[in-house]
Amino acid sequence: KLKFDTDWTYAPAPESKAAATINKQYNLFIDGKWQQPTSKKYFGTINPATEEKLSEVADANEADVNKAVTAARNAYDKTWKKLPAKERAKYIFRIARMVQEKARELAVIETLDGGKPIRESRDFDIPTAANHFFYYAGWADKLEYAFPNRRPQPLGVAGQIIPWNFPLLMAAWKIAPALATGNTVVLKPAETTPLTALKLAEIIQEADLPPGVVNIITGAGATGAALVNHPGVDKIAFTGSTEVGKIIQRATAGTNKKLTLELGGKAANIIFEDAPIDQAVEGVINGIFFNQGHVCCAGSRLYVQESVAKEVIKKLKDRIESLIVGDPMDKNTDIGAINSKEQLATIHKYLTIGKKEGAEIYQSSCPIPKKGFYCPPTLFTNVAQSNRIAQEEIFGPVLSILTFRTDDEVIEKANNTPYGLSAGVWTDKGSKVFNMTKRLRAGVVWANTFNKFDPTSPFGGYKESGFGREGGLHGLEGYLKFSV
Ligand code: NAD
Repeated sequence: KLKFDTDWTYAPAPESKAAATINKQYNLFIDGKWQQPTSKKYFGTINPATEEKLSEVADANEADVNKAVTAARNAYDKTWKKLPAKERAKYIFRIARMVQEKARELAVIETLDGGKPIRESRDFDIPTAANHFFYYAGWADKLEYAFPNRRPQPLGVAGQIIPWNFPLLMAAWKIAPALATGNTVVLKPAETTPLTALKLAEIIQEADLPPGVVNIITGAGATGAALVNHPGVDKIAFTGSTEVGKIIQRATAGTNKKLTLELGGKAANIIFEDAPIDQAVEGVINGIFFNQGHVCCAGSRLYVQESVAKEVIKKLKDRIESLIVGDPMDKNTDIGAINSKEQLATIHKYLTIGKKEGAEIYQSSCPIPKKGFYCPPTLFTNVAQSNRIAQEEIFGPVLSILTFRTDDEVIEKANNTPYGLSAGVWTDKGSKVFNMTKRLRAGVVWANTFNKFDPTSPFGGYKESGFGREGGLHGLEGYLKFSV
């Protein structure tokens, strides 16, 4: 049933006979059809591990955004809003199953386009994306029970803009709750990682979702801005940098658009002296090196209690020596490619800043491939709280290590950044965990674990990490208005 306009390029899928099919060129998915961009302009998307071009995708301009929003509006008025909730649920369940069925292929494409280790795409990104669709499909016909006496109503057309670090998962985080609550969607993936969102468009087409209910348009910041500024959009859901989040908040101020922002972070991962040290070290490694550190909630600041600092730092140094940096398609790889040349340059800029600020750098001696964008796992010790590497989001495999003596001191330091997305606490004492979770200004606090995600749990920030929650029951609210 699938139709494609051009030839394929083939990539081998590891441990599977299935080939991943990537079109040479992709148009815009508007009103259930693949439509050429008005400008006839396309841009390339590359494999950051090899710098080879994978495909080219359409560059949507204002006219295309208008077409997509109009299609979403018509679909909302004519079909989606009128459909019984249990029928909406069926479509979402169908999408979930199809994501599962195509999981191998989606994992390969995610890794090729984004640079993350295949192990992560296969074991985390794609299954978690499918789980989000399953979870929200379940809510679609239970909204009155979720919000008793409040009469939940959809908003209309949701404009959704997502970043490049978890491309398919972010698309699922956005689309699943929007559809479950009865909204229609125009989604814009990030310019460096559009391919799995376009594959999702193919799935949506194959699932026979009514045309226009989900539209997927590619482009860079200007396309996102056109979507934000379109008067026909009722809701903007944005995940990305704090800088762009602020622009979007200004642009939507005074309009009737409902807004949720999931922005940057600089999470504190806190090790107390009574913590199980080996487990904590593993948690810190996972906290900062998962997805090359391209994680909004990455544990990018380690606060370790002075009495165990020497031991922890020694263990971290030993551990990063054993991490394998290299080909993301190799299932043994721990740290894949940095997503883009620009992001690698940003990371290098921070390495220079850290050294100039007087911090001590330690990098693993693991050889890194000559071609492609790579950065070895990096630790900074001797970091001061006021250093930029302790305050600003680096979004790479770089950990800033600081020490503390008392609970009050670590709370003061952990809360002392403009962000407040997540934090981690490692201790043997339950009472300490509860005390810390109350005092840490972070949307998520993990205890004796890190980077755990589940569709049933709300996720979101304090302060400049944004507002609104995604995931769980809370994630439905951002797509609803209440008539009581
Ligand atoms: P980015 O802000 O540069 O881009 C995000 C998206 O916004 C992209 O699709 C981009 O094309 C679009 N965009 C750029 N300028 C725009 C504008 N003026 N108007 C509308 N859209 C515009 O962020 P990024 O570099 O792609 O992603 C990394 C950032 O995302 C990090 O700061 C990270 O912490 C954050 N992030 C947050 C979460 C979360 O849940 N809080 C999750 C993942 C990533």
